[in-house]
Amino acid sequence: MFDLKKNNKEKIIIFDTTLRDGEQAPGATMNIEEKLLIAKALEKMGVDVIEAGFPCASNGDFLAVERIAQTIKNSTICALARAKKNDIERASQAIKDACSPRIHTFIATSPIHMEYKLKMSQPQVLEAIKDSVVLARNLVSQVDWSAEDATRSNHDFLFKAIEVAINSGASVINIPDTVGYTTPEEYYNLILAIKNNVSNIDKAIISAHCHDDLGMAVANSLSAMRAGARQIECTINGIGERAGNAALEEIVMAIKTRSDFYQIDCTIDTAMITRVSKLVSSITGFAVQYNKAIVGANAFAHESGIHQDGMLKNRSTYEIMTPQSVGLEKTSLKLGKLSGRSAFKDRLKDLGYEISEELLDQAFIRFKDLADKKKEISNEDLVALVDNSIVNNKSNFELLDLEVNCGTKKFADVKLKIRIDSKELQTSFVSNDGPVDAIFSAIKKAIPHDASLELYQVQAVTEGTDAQAIVVVRLQEGSKIYSASGADTDVLVASGIAYINCLDKLKNKKE
Ligand SMILES: [Zn+2]
Repeated sequence: MFDLKKNNKEKIIIFDTTLRDGEQAPGATMNIEEKLLIAKALEKMGVDVIEAGFPCASNGDFLAVERIAQTIKNSTICALARAKKNDIERASQAIKDACSPRIHTFIATSPIHMEYKLKMSQPQVLEAIKDSVVLARNLVSQVDWSAEDATRSNHDFLFKAIEVAINSGASVINIPDTVGYTTPEEYYNLILAIKNNVSNIDKAIISAHCHDDLGMAVANSLSAMRAGARQIECTINGIGERAGNAALEEIVMAIKTRSDFYQIDCTIDTAMITRVSKLVSSITGFAVQYNKAIVGANAFAHESGIHQDGMLKNRSTYEIMTPQSVGLEKTSLKLGKLSGRSAFKDRLKDLGYEISEELLDQAFIRFKDLADKKKEISNEDLVALVDNSIVNNKSNFELLDLEVNCGTKKFADVKLKIRIDSKELQTSFVSNDGPVDAIFSAIKKAIPHDASLELYQVQAVTEGTDAQAIVVVRLQEGSKIYSASGADTDVLVASGIAYINCLDKLKNKKE
């Protein structure tokens, strides 16, 4: 449908930073297995560049970038580095096995950042740009240079800095709206001014990186594209620092749906959007708002009578995109109790999963359990089930058994059995604050910790009272925040699983 050769449109490079800027959102911490899973999904989806992390930040970050670089074949793997020797060298080591490695190095160019954060003068910043880009370029052939806080920088200085970066070997120049301050018109003018005032700009690709503090990240990114930017940095579901980054799915669907206007194309397989959105949401524990564009549960729902009437006569009366184009298929055949392993495997393949036989076996057991409880199993159920099986595959902790006794006239009485590494432990708790409190308290007795509960959230995967519940738990320990989810038809079981998964993350991060 989106054959680039056929339409001869210019191409925009989709640079996904879910694993770097997205992970910087408080509570979105991911482990290596989870990052790898997302990276594989992004590769399959056709993302051109995957920013895999910030190797200098921690040993865990380094190892995650390294694993992704060793695994991913079809996307460029990018590692972030400050304008520091050690950062850049660590970044290059982490991506040394990538088929197409890239270093993304940055330094702030705005007066406020230079004066208060860097404590550097303009000539010192220019010197640092030269040194960092030259060093990075000696280590890898693709260097992406960012002027942090570009949109609040002095224009003449910004032009000079870009010129130095390109002369030093940068082939991509990123103009971040780091604090989400710019507007579509202003950003358009800035990109145009860069094209008109930087003498060597034809030797580099201009890139947009926008934050959503004023709700304009996507609009700003598209404006930059109109002005000539040919790379957009974005994240799945728009996750990221503070209000988040520009959402990949919104940018891609705007480009595809309004190709008549933009005359630009990209190589993203849009039919994978829903699935990747759900994967990122279940891994990070960041639920997608109901009315979120493209991937919200209501994005394709038509409720009012007038709209429904129009839709029945001709779908395009009120529908600018089809649900199928983003991989949202409600009508496909449901699996049930009698479905075999091969039907299960085929369906997972249709949904874009390629998992090991071992994982498939585990997921199939969970599928059979679910089919015992639920007559019809939809694609949404399968996605929740499989994502949870994959994410929780190598847990240190596991909920083996749960018994709850509660009601209007008694305290909640919980007995549970947990596996801790290879040991089994039984514990119980009685609470006058209900069954969830009793479950969490019983787990805390088995796995002692100092973290506080910051969020407890329940979502139904499908409609109906037999729906699987996805429970998200967020725990804070010191300045660190961790999120995890659990899925089950029983909301109390899902709560226990989510809580245990979150403690598992906490434990792993400590080690
Ligand atoms: Zn950012």
